[in-house]
Amino acid sequence: MAGEPQNDCLFCKIVAGEIPATIVRETETTVAFRDINPQAPTHVLVIPKAHYENAAELAAGAPRIAADVLAETKAVADEEKLDSYRLVFNTGSGAGQTVWHAHAHVLGGRGLQWPPG
Ligand code: AMP
Repeated sequence: MAGEPQNDCLFCKIVAGEIPATIVRETETTVAFRDINPQAPTHVLVIPKAHYENAAELAAGAPRIAADVLAETKAVADEEKLDSYRLVFNTGSGAGQTVWHAHAHVLGGRGLQWPPG
């Protein structure tokens, strides 16, 4: 069920402390940790602790937590001293989503091209 921990979800396991991650920030509703395969000098993922499959489900099911995730992306950018950065929510396999727990990528520390691939 949306919002409930899923046994087979990698990011739920990170939230539960069952899988190690380099956590950079944590709030009551969110966790931010470094991506295991960074695509930029700063590549941090901000996730809701509650399980929602993607950004669309999160926005529809828990808009306050979606706002918390967005606020945390700014906090990460501030901590990492990023003046320019990109937020990405890959939503659906066609957009490159591979982990089915909503997450914001915070990417920065290098020049970023537009449009993305
Ligand atoms: P996406 O392709 O948008 O679903 O992004 C999933 C991201 O999770 C990828 O950038 C992966 O590198 C990252 N990732 C996968 N497993 C881990 C892990 N154990 N710890 C940190 N990041 C991970």
